[in-house]
Amino acid sequence: MTERAPSLLDLDGVGPARVQALARLGVDDLRDLLLLLPRALESTGARVAIGDLADHVGASVRVVGTVARRSFRRFGKRSQLTVRVTDDTGSVDLVYYNQSWQRERFADDQEVEVWGRPQRSQRGLVFLSPRVGTDDSPLPPAGGWRSLYPQTDGLGAELVRKLVAQALRDHGATLDEPLPADFLDEHGMLPLDEVPAALLEPRDPTHFTRARRRALFSDLAAAHARAAERSRAGRGGGARRCAVDDDELARVEALFPFEWTGAQRRVVGELRADLASDRPMRRLLQGDVGSGKTAVGVCAALVAAAAGGQTAFLAPTELLAEQHAESLAPIFAAAGRRVALLTGSTPSRDRRRVLREVKSGAVDLLVGTHALFHPDVVFRDLALVTIDEQHRFGVAQREKLLDKRAAAHLLLMTATPIPRTLAHTLYGELEVSLLDERPPGRGPRTTRWLRDRDAERLPEFLAERLDAGDRVYWVSPRIGDEEARGAEQAFERWSSSDLARHGVELVHGRLDAAERAKRLARFRDGDARVLVATTVIEVGVDVPSATVMVVEDADRLGLAQLHQLRGRVGRGAAPSWCLFFGKPAAAERLELLEQCDDGFALAEADLARRGMGELGGLRQSGESAGFEDDLDLVVAARDLFARNPEVVAALARAGGGPRAPRNTLHVP
Ligand code: ADP
Ligand code: MG
Repeated sequence: MTERAPSLLDLDGVGPARVQALARLGVDDLRDLLLLLPRALESTGARVAIGDLADHVGASVRVVGTVARRSFRRFGKRSQLTVRVTDDTGSVDLVYYNQSWQRERFADDQEVEVWGRPQRSQRGLVFLSPRVGTDDSPLPPAGGWRSLYPQTDGLGAELVRKLVAQALRDHGATLDEPLPADFLDEHGMLPLDEVPAALLEPRDPTHFTRARRRALFSDLAAAHARAAERSRAGRGGGARRCAVDDDELARVEALFPFEWTGAQRRVVGELRADLASDRPMRRLLQGDVGSGKTAVGVCAALVAAAAGGQTAFLAPTELLAEQHAESLAPIFAAAGRRVALLTGSTPSRDRRRVLREVKSGAVDLLVGTHALFHPDVVFRDLALVTIDEQHRFGVAQREKLLDKRAAAHLLLMTATPIPRTLAHTLYGELEVSLLDERPPGRGPRTTRWLRDRDAERLPEFLAERLDAGDRVYWVSPRIGDEEARGAEQAFERWSSSDLARHGVELVHGRLDAAERAKRLARFRDGDARVLVATTVIEVGVDVPSATVMVVEDADRLGLAQLHQLRGRVGRGAAPSWCLFFGKPAAAERLELLEQCDDGFALAEADLARRGMGELGGLRQSGESAGFEDDLDLVVAARDLFARNPEVVAALARAGGGPRAPRNTLHVP
């Protein structure tokens, strides 16, 4: 009898369709599944008495009580269900708007467990749309931590969790740790054999973080090994020479509806020189939010197109990709060139057409998300790979696009301010360009951390701005299962307030692309002057007439992310305001943002304050984690690679090489 290595197909309930769905999550084999990174970690809420809820406003808590009263009202299409729950110490109302089906879940005198965040309202404390556990469908145990898994079409997060648990039970003993214990200790990582259990059922956030870092590290080390090989191979040339003369360049620059800044001209000059060579460009373009990076990247794509080459333009979210495709199409059309869009939401008929046109060379610029990595995406003559908001991607993903053509020119763009000294360590193989000048004519932007009394004045301020015709973003940055719910609750509050007459729209990551585009268009066109959103709008929303942003729970987001978010306002000539609500625990971060409006200065200040070891704080988002939390891992991978290439080669083989979105967390 020959022994066959166990595969994903050995898991209960997994057939070819689920194997494909798992592949979309970056899981190609059992090892990948064991090391699959949860999207986030959430607290399951501590149990408290109803009488003590006032001490826990806004926190994730549990109460247990009996249903004392229920009322249900309809107003036209809307409805409100109120359920009063009582224990020995007091009572609290659960409120559900427009969820009439919830009625059937409650019976008088029934014992229920409630999980949510209590809020103040006119009639005292309430839970808005809390989760409720009953004997039949209990909640996860209170007072613990729960990993939230990613999901994809045909594979829900709960099912992913079950598969991981099964893989751990049946195949968990297959991981060996090749790295020395002192290296792991030094870098805050768990040994590999302990990682799967700690990812699935972490004891606490530290335990989770140590496991997550180790899982990420194997991908990183593999990707770095490949990047190094690639860069050795690339020195020999082989890139498409995209040379344009001065007239041609002037024609390209004139396609844009503005005067280029001096910094933009300088960078375009650098790119032009790089693109004219057969040595593949490897360039990182850094610039603060709104400094005009994307425009420069597009200019490079037009230069490539003028020389007959195609460009792949990768963006981290569908929203951003859609916006780029829409705003670039007319510029390209004016140059007699074509733009196409490819994302996970592209209908299959359109997808087939786009793939055909990319292959034939009819499309000059292909804008898209992770969908671009797919092996079916084949270019006729790929000259340039451009990655927008590159800090949202892993090294592995960058490499994956270069698989389409190893000698393509590569332009990375980022607004995550990384101090120059550090940029060199992190991106040693890259040349760095800097956009250090803002386009002229932008109004002043004021940032305020709202404390108690300010909150009372806020409605008046908002009313004043809206009456003046301004546009307002209201951001609710909850994550995980709560993501959409937090924003929905804010939307309900807005819709039932006096300000609803200005028109309110809601966007979050769970809307389909067409619906999201429709709602954004209503906001852009002024039909709705308030946009309630999750952090999906962090990148890619460009509405110059929006002048006010309010961020709830800002303490849940890191410095870099808050800075990026506030970049949505201050894009026009009018003055603008960015207002944060947040717990005092985040005082340092919020005060820094109040005082400093420049992303690079912020990063320097932050670095000086914490030192390199805690660079992760650039994007420390409370219970979730983002890629930059792990910048120091990139440094560790480089160290290890320099000191001990054999270990990395072993890791590269074990890790199976770069894969899809494993190390991109927190992309809404
Ligand atoms: P970034 O990618 O750095 O955040 P964008 O390229 O998206 O910045 O530019 C932000 C906004 O400023 C866009 O609306 C863009 O059209 C505009 N813009 C870019 N460059 C200039 C310029 N030189 N003058 C005026 N507006 C500009
Ligand atoms: Mg941009």
